Amino acid sequence: MIQWSDDQRELREAVLPLGARLSEGHLERDARGEFSRELWKLVQDSDLLRLPTDEKWGGLGQDLLTTLYVLEGLGYSCRDGGLSFSVTTHMVSTGVPLQRFGSEDLKRRFLPAVCAGDVIGAHAISEPEAGSDMLNMRTTGRVEDGHLVLNGNKSFVSNGAVADVFVVYVSTGAQGSPFGVTAVLVERDTPGLTVGKPMSKMGLRTSTLTELFFDDCRVPLENVIGRTGSGFLVFDHVMKWEVLCSFVVNVGEMQHRLERVLEYAKSRQQFGRSIGSFQSVANRVVDMRITVETARRALYEAALKMAAGEDATVDVATAKLLASEGNLSTAIAAVQTFGGYGYMTEYGLEQDVRNALAGTIYSGTSDIQRTRIAAMMGL
Ligand SMILES: Cc1cc2nc3c(=O)[nH]c(=O)nc-3n(C[C@H](O)[C@H](O)[C@H](O)COP(=O)(O)OP(=O)(O)OC[C@H]3O[C@@H](n4cnc5c(N)ncnc54)[C@H](O)[C@@H]3O)c2cc1C
Repeated sequence: MIQWSDDQRELREAVLPLGARLSEGHLERDARGEFSRELWKLVQDSDLLRLPTDEKWGGLGQDLLTTLYVLEGLGYSCRDGGLSFSVTTHMVSTGVPLQRFGSEDLKRRFLPAVCAGDVIGAHAISEPEAGSDMLNMRTTGRVEDGHLVLNGNKSFVSNGAVADVFVVYVSTGAQGSPFGVTAVLVERDTPGLTVGKPMSKMGLRTSTLTELFFDDCRVPLENVIGRTGSGFLVFDHVMKWEVLCSFVVNVGEMQHRLERVLEYAKSRQQFGRSIGSFQSVANRVVDMRITVETARRALYEAALKMAAGEDATVDVATAKLLASEGNLSTAIAAVQTFGGYGYMTEYGLEQDVRNALAGTIYSGTSDIQRTRIAAMMGL
């Protein structure tokens, strides 16, 4: 396994008290479906959002591996899974593509505020008729008088209700072609953009999600990230970062869950002995341990490959499957081990099940990850 340096450990240690603070009142916020601006301010005051951005733009200039290591610490210490999801969505949706593909002008105008969290970012890829099949998107971008004129609508935009900027993926060429997509940064107050009402959802309820509607929304061509027609490249890069960053948070959450379940299995007495002394309960805890360690290894191995500039497509898809499905199976195992208490909201375990289910859908469903791996196997 990776040997982390003292500096990396220090960065990770620093996030633990923040996670504890962000956890306060999370069950009530979950019940209300509330994103907390006050807690976002705390996130801003920490170094979390600055991690992967170049120092030139106010970031810490940390590499992918260090960023993941710190985010795992966030997952371990923060019980508000929705807020953690908002943090990673913000980081990967806007800062990551701007830094990798943005022009100097675009970086100068937006990156310092994005990496400080002064403006919140979101990305809009999915559409009502094009989810897994994103290349068949219907939202169009027409080049006209130095502008991209957007028409159509986007669904399931995480951070949508609170975001100040959106990276929107639109069709600017042949439908179904990877060369027909363009990524463009759209400011919330741009005429022609309407942000829908927050949609009520099953889990990750402290993170908002909305639709976006574009009606002749004129965006300067300078806001295109990369080149017109290169949006699929941007999307592919962003999705890899999204999988690694979102799901390493889940690994931290799984580790915390394992420790909590282990403690409970040792202390809860039934039939005059600890429940952990029953083989079936012990096996469940062992499976949780194997699941979290397998997911962690897969994620960091995929990240190492990506950092080395190698093709990590299958590795990222495998890591996504292991981490998302592992997060769900361990969340269910925790509820089962806590029995009736696990089913009660106040224990914060049923919430994990609801949150974890989302991870098998966003960033490409489990079916799509398996389809991708099968294709790479020549099936
Ligand atoms: C909590 C949450 C947050 C999200 N955040 C964002 C966001 O910030 N931005 C954004 O753009 N989108 C976001 N999404 C949308 C998400 O990316 C899509 O829901 C996802 O890509 C699936 O698309 P769909 O919902 O249209 O389902 P569909 O594509 O209609 O799929 C329906 C079912 O069919 C299966 N299926 C489809 N095609 C295939 C195939 N080829 N092979 C096998 N099975 C297939 C799927 O696996 C699924 O089970 C979010 C979703 C959720 C739940």
